[in-house]
Amino acid sequence: MVRAVRGMRDILPEQGRRWDLVEGELTRVLQRHAYEAIRLPLLEFTELFARGVGEATDIVEKEMYTLADRDGDSLSLRPEGTASSVRMLQEHGLLYNQTQRVYYAGPMFRYEKPQKGRYRQFYQIGAEAYGFAGPDIDGELIGLGWACWQALGIETMVTLEINTLGSSEARQLYRTALVDFLTPMSELLDEDSRRRLETNPMRILDSKNPATQALLEKAPKLPDFVDVQSLEHYEGLKLLLDAMQIPYQENPNLVRGLDYYTHTVFEWTTQDLGSQGAVCAGGRYDGLVERLGGRPTPGVGFAIGLDRVVLLHELAEANAKAPGQDRSADIYVCVTQPDCSSAALVVANALRQALPKRRVRQHMGGGNLKKQLKKADACGADVAILIESDALDQQTLTIKHLRDASIGQETLAFDAGIARLQQY
Ligand code: ATP
Ligand code: MG
Repeated sequence: MVRAVRGMRDILPEQGRRWDLVEGELTRVLQRHAYEAIRLPLLEFTELFARGVGEATDIVEKEMYTLADRDGDSLSLRPEGTASSVRMLQEHGLLYNQTQRVYYAGPMFRYEKPQKGRYRQFYQIGAEAYGFAGPDIDGELIGLGWACWQALGIETMVTLEINTLGSSEARQLYRTALVDFLTPMSELLDEDSRRRLETNPMRILDSKNPATQALLEKAPKLPDFVDVQSLEHYEGLKLLLDAMQIPYQENPNLVRGLDYYTHTVFEWTTQDLGSQGAVCAGGRYDGLVERLGGRPTPGVGFAIGLDRVVLLHELAEANAKAPGQDRSADIYVCVTQPDCSSAALVVANALRQALPKRRVRQHMGGGNLKKQLKKADACGADVAILIESDALDQQTLTIKHLRDASIGQETLAFDAGIARLQQY
């Protein structure tokens, strides 16, 4: 038997519904903020990522799936979406002298060590805004992330960390100071950090190595180098976060080591997924468009790691319900007389129409009411609808509340019944 390629994910039927639900909720939040959908190619010229992500990043150094096209061109499966979005908007003349707010979703590919929450084919939903220089759009994007977590009911499981990298001049000064400080003690650094000292020194701040972290304690600190204008931008963002009541922590070691990142950087992390704790990362990259050959254009955005968010959603649900319980339908339509299944079909469709967020399952295969209610209970439904006659009038709804014995069963006019079901 031919097996799946290592790290390429299979999403099984038992997980498919959750993926649809999470993607659906996130897409809706983005649409309600008036972001517009774009779709990016899976393959781009390797050069796009070398320039747009950076030669000295882990992604380009060792994580890309690169192949030769039949005519010899070097192509790579996309490892992320930002470089492609800039390429696309630029190529179609959608950046110069205008603003854009867009989102994309889909699989990304990186050759890394597969484990829980880390795959070689994984999924991101990302949002990007171009042409806005102020901190208000940074605030909007962070608020958008927060609205995503709220829509999924996982906002208590994530923490927001923010930092500012300052202007590119300020970063350059800091970079030099950091290299000057670390070079004399370079043999004490871990191997990755020693290499980064040459290529991408600010990523050393990210190192998980305890000895390296100890050396960094006395190192020059980024906030001491940040210019006044950047600090104003940062203060502006913090005021917005306070106004939106979004809790955050400042983390002066939070860097996204690419040269073109400027000002704001942020990351949403969780304690609930072991070491794969980052669920969303973003920041401002005012230098990127220019680096990819366009005119200077401010840009800011984030990417959500969908695989990890799906895991969090599953955890949140498991915490909220009794262990072992299935949760595959919300409303279960019971057919108590053999001759009323057409009425049941009509009612079930009317319920789906009136309650777009509820999953309505109709009983199949007959059997007495007791047996049907048992099935309703087993699939986790909150209520059963009892269809007791074949009258297709839809005038009334008989609702049995499966989780609240104090109400039990009631027959209501159809509209009142819908209103009642909306409370679930
Ligand atoms: P990490 O430090 O976990 O490798 P990263 O800095 O490489 O993350 P980004 O490139 O910023 O990640 O991507 C944004 C988000 O995409 C991450 O926060 C994470 O949730 C998710 N992500 C990145 N790589 C993977 C992967 N291999 N498998 C699953 N999710 C991933
Ligand atoms: Mg990574």
